[in-house]
Amino acid sequence: MKPFLLARAKLRGVSPDEFKELLRETLGFDVERPFEGVERILCVQPHPDDCELAIGGALAKLSRGRREITYLTLTDGSAGSREIPPEKLKEVRREEQERAAEIIGVKKLIWLDYPDTKLPHSEDLRDEILRIIRSEKPDLVLTPDPWLPYDVHPDHRNAGFSTGEAAFFSALPSVGEGEPWEVRLLGFYYTDNPNYIEDIGDFLKLKLKALKAHKSQFGSEWSSWEVFVKSVARFYGETAGFKYGEGMKILPTVLFHANPLAGVL
Ligand SMILES: [Zn+2]
Repeated sequence: MKPFLLARAKLRGVSPDEFKELLRETLGFDVERPFEGVERILCVQPHPDDCELAIGGALAKLSRGRREITYLTLTDGSAGSREIPPEKLKEVRREEQERAAEIIGVKKLIWLDYPDTKLPHSEDLRDEILRIIRSEKPDLVLTPDPWLPYDVHPDHRNAGFSTGEAAFFSALPSVGEGEPWEVRLLGFYYTDNPNYIEDIGDFLKLKLKALKAHKSQFGSEWSSWEVFVKSVARFYGETAGFKYGEGMKILPTVLFHANPLAGVL
């Protein structure tokens, strides 16, 4: 168990080793090796660039470890510029995302094209994501942490809520269309409560290269973005004893319901 989690668990007066053992024995999930047995990953993002900004290093590492990664982008990203008009920006961002995905090693891109800034938290969106989950059959679904304090962007919160619900309901035959599919693991990125830090020391360069491909987003202020991205990677990394890291909150999907311990697991 990573030291920061140990400290957090101790603060709450519980034994992290007991939890660790419980997860391993009952659900076959090892919090130190969450990607063991994972073959297909669906990374859901509110905008083109979020998967890479949050966990581009980990995804590059996983794709080189023979995991099949698909991006599901929920909005068209059309509001993300002060210079490029929305209709043009949509196309630009799609091309930028395609280039960045290639750098990361992502083979498939799916788009829902909701208008940027207007992603709802709705049953319709949940069912659309659920339909995609059932056709892609991922072992792990990743999405922004909707409980990240101080994130004011509704697209990020709504993406996290709707994707979490879809991943959870996908196993239930009475919800949505298609054959039920059990998403074994659910993970949140952009989180301040990670239970796993990936060492991205060897993949930071690749992450930066992928981010640079999003010229309309980072091009004009690249040097400040580079400092920011490195600082976040050091923030996560240092808590786990790495130079650069990316944090995620990953658990078996069933534990993200009616579970007061989800915050400390
Ligand atoms: Zn975003």
